[in-house]
Amino acid sequence: MSNVRFEQVAVSVGERSGCTVAVAIHSTRLGPALGGARMWHYPAADAAVADAKRLAAAMTLKAAAAGLDLGGGKGVIAAPWPRSPTGELRRALLLDFADLVDSLDGRYVTAEDVGTGAADMAVIAERTDHVVGLDSDRGGSGDPSPITALGVVSAMRACAAHRFGSPSLRGLSVCVVGLGHVGGRVAGMVAAEGAELAASDLDPARRAGLPPGARWLDPAEAITAPCDVLAPCALGEAIGIEEAERLRAAIVCGAANNVLTSDEVATELDSRGILYAPDFIVNAGGLISVYGELRGLPPGDATAGAEAIEDTLAEILEDAERRSIPPLAAARERARARLGALAAASG
Ligand code: NAD
Repeated sequence: MSNVRFEQVAVSVGERSGCTVAVAIHSTRLGPALGGARMWHYPAADAAVADAKRLAAAMTLKAAAAGLDLGGGKGVIAAPWPRSPTGELRRALLLDFADLVDSLDGRYVTAEDVGTGAADMAVIAERTDHVVGLDSDRGGSGDPSPITALGVVSAMRACAAHRFGSPSLRGLSVCVVGLGHVGGRVAGMVAAEGAELAASDLDPARRAGLPPGARWLDPAEAITAPCDVLAPCALGEAIGIEEAERLRAAIVCGAANNVLTSDEVATELDSRGILYAPDFIVNAGGLISVYGELRGLPPGDATAGAEAIEDTLAEILEDAERRSIPPLAAARERARARLGALAAASG
C-alpha cells in the first residue's frame, strides 16, 4: 500500500462527535469516487485512515473492471467503541461524516458499507447530495445486498463452469462464512439451486435463518472446511498464508472485500490448484446497484449487470489459464487496461 498514490485523503475530527471521520479518494479518472462509508471501531485514528485508503484503492479496480464510469473512494467513521453507536451519538457521527463528504464537492459519493445502512444514508442526505444507497421510497436503489448476492452466485457459476465443466451449482458443496446481509442471501440462493449448504457465523442467532438441511459449522473451522466452493462473506483478511495452506476448497468465491491478507496468498492458492475468484470482481453487484441510482438507470439494469459478472469472470479465468497467471493478476490487468497509464503508475 505504501507505493499507492491517492488523489486526496481528507480527515477531520467531527465537531459534534469528537470522533475521526475520513474519506480516501484513490482515483477519479473514470468518474466520481464512489465507495461506502464504513462505521467501525479502530484502535487509533491512523488505523481508520489506513483502512479507508486500502478500501478506496480496491474500489478503483472494482469500478474499472465492472466497466462502470466511476472512480474509487471510501469513507470511514471511527466509532468510539466496538458496540455499534446508537441514538444521538450515531446521528452526530453521520452528520460529521456528511459534512466531510459535502466539502469534497462530489468528487466522492458515499453509500452503505459494513456498519451502515439505508437509514444512515438518509441522515447523511440531510447535509449533502453526494450520497446513494437511499431507500426506494426516497428515490434510491435500496439495500444493495440482494444485487451483491446475485453477483456472487453468478460468479460461482463461472467458477463452477471453469473448474467442473458446468455452471450448475446443483450437488456442489458450498460453505458460506458470514450470514449477514449478503451471505444470508447467498446461502438461500445456493441452497435453492440444489447445492449442499454448510454455513457459519460468529453470531449463533444466524443459524435460525438457514434453509432446511443446511449444516452449521464452528466459525473457527469454517474457512478450512472441505467443500467445492468456499464463500467468505464476513469481513476482510479472512485468508492469510496459514489459512491458504490449510484450505480444503476447490474454489474461493465470496462477497468479502479484501478477503486475502496479501497478494502472496493468491499465489499460494494458485500453486495449490485452488481457484480464487478475485473479490473485487465477485462482489461488484453492490456497486453496480448504487451506480444505477447515481445515473438514474432502471432497476433491471442492476440485475443484468450483476448477472453479467458470470461472463466477466469467465473471461478473466480463461485469460489467467491461458497465460498461466493467477486470476487476481488477470483481473487487475483488466481493470488497469481501462484505467490506462494512471493506474499503471500508481501500482
Ligand atoms: P454484514 O455485517 O451484514 O454481515 C457480516 C456477517 O459476518 C455478520 O453476520 C457477522 O456476524 C459475520 N462475521 C463476522 N466475522 C465473522 C467470522 N470471523 N466468522 C464468521 N462470521 C463472521 O455485512 P454484509 O453487508 O453482508 O457484507 C459482508 C462482506 O461483503 C463485507 O466484507 C462487505 O465489505 C462485503 N460487501 C458487501 C456488499 C453489500 O452489498 N452489502 C457489497 C460488496 C461487498
